Amino acid sequence: MSPLPIIGWIVFGFAGAYIFAKKGYRPLVGAMVGVFLGPCGLVVSLLIPRTTAAAQDAEESERLNQELIAARKQKQCPKCGCTHSAINAFCPSCMHQY
Ligand SMILES: [Zn+2]
Repeated sequence: MSPLPIIGWIVFGFAGAYIFAKKGYRPLVGAMVGVFLGPCGLVVSLLIPRTTAAAQDAEESERLNQELIAARKQKQCPKCGCTHSAINAFCPSCMHQY
């Protein structure tokens, strides 16, 4: 017997579990959908809507990501010339207010 079907079950099982977990459902259910339905199960996993909690988590994660990107940007103080995070309201070196 070729090992290919077993590898397929494992791949679809993990993919289903991952997608279900990301959308706020129990990963075990996603794994079973992936294993039993294969590619169709993957389509089902992708089509089911997120739970409210998962949608809020994704929103929160996106907001934190935007904050992180903003915090990584640098700006230069016009008074002392040192560079620091662009989200600072004042320069940490000379206390110059922006
Ligand atoms: Zn300064």
